[in-house]
Amino acid sequence: MRGRKLVLVGAAVALAITTAACGGGGGKKGDLTSNKKVNFPAGSTMAKLNEAGKVKIGTKFDQPLFGLKGLDGTMEGFDVEIAKVIASELGIAASNIQWVETPSKIREEAIEKGDVDFVVATYTINDKRKERIAFAGPYYTAGQDIMVRSDDNSITGPESLKGSGKKVCSVSGSTPAEKIKEYADESQIVLFDVYSKCADALKDKQVDAVTTDNVILMGLVANSNGAFKVLSKPFTEEPYGIGVAKDDTDFRMWINDVLEKASKDGRYADAWKKTAGKADSNVPSMPAVNRY
Ligand code: GLU
Repeated sequence: MRGRKLVLVGAAVALAITTAACGGGGGKKGDLTSNKKVNFPAGSTMAKLNEAGKVKIGTKFDQPLFGLKGLDGTMEGFDVEIAKVIASELGIAASNIQWVETPSKIREEAIEKGDVDFVVATYTINDKRKERIAFAGPYYTAGQDIMVRSDDNSITGPESLKGSGKKVCSVSGSTPAEKIKEYADESQIVLFDVYSKCADALKDKQVDAVTTDNVILMGLVANSNGAFKVLSKPFTEEPYGIGVAKDDTDFRMWINDVLEKASKDGRYADAWKKTAGKADSNVPSMPAVNRY
């Protein structure tokens, strides 16, 4: 009985994936230019979104290489590209994505309240967050690092912070803001809502260091005109997941299927090459998804 049910579910997923892969308004691998009908299990989030023809996706707006909103409103970054792959598999054209800015602290709340359908936003999978939401993925593994002004050689790692009186900036509700408490006194830690404010504070010498994931820092360095550098000594592992509603297991598993498919058919590598690949040309191999 159990075996048969699994086979049927497998067949439905296979059908959905095959249908999504052919035809439609876009190129073979690219984003859809117009919506298209995809057959999903009735009542699923995938079916609802496909019928609605639009999707609300939470991401970052100020993180070069991963999630950045340009002055003309164009979205770019690795997270943005991964999100577009998911949208296209839902049969939704990139132009019908509503991008919602989700700073670190509000991501769980945005998912819980239904302000977004899913979140792709340098979002570390961890158990505390899993109490409120669920994660597909991981699709990438980052590591916490430290960024300083290029002419500053006094900070060589997180160990040089304690007792130094130096100020370190991070973002409220982020994993790096928690972790850095092990290495710095409370009075040394400055928290903003977004990382671009930390970068401004570093430039203006209001703080001496910024700590978060290496890939976020890499983007800030790339945009700093030589003013900043990263220590390149990551001291944590940050597996990035895609946040969905806690009880929506079907949607989570379907996104896992999409990630695996994109990793195999080259869309994952393409997404990297046209975004973060500009700063790091080594295309990562996608970590194994965790179907917990
Ligand atoms: N990956 C870490 C987190 O999810 C830091 C990056 C961020 O704040 O988005 O908290």
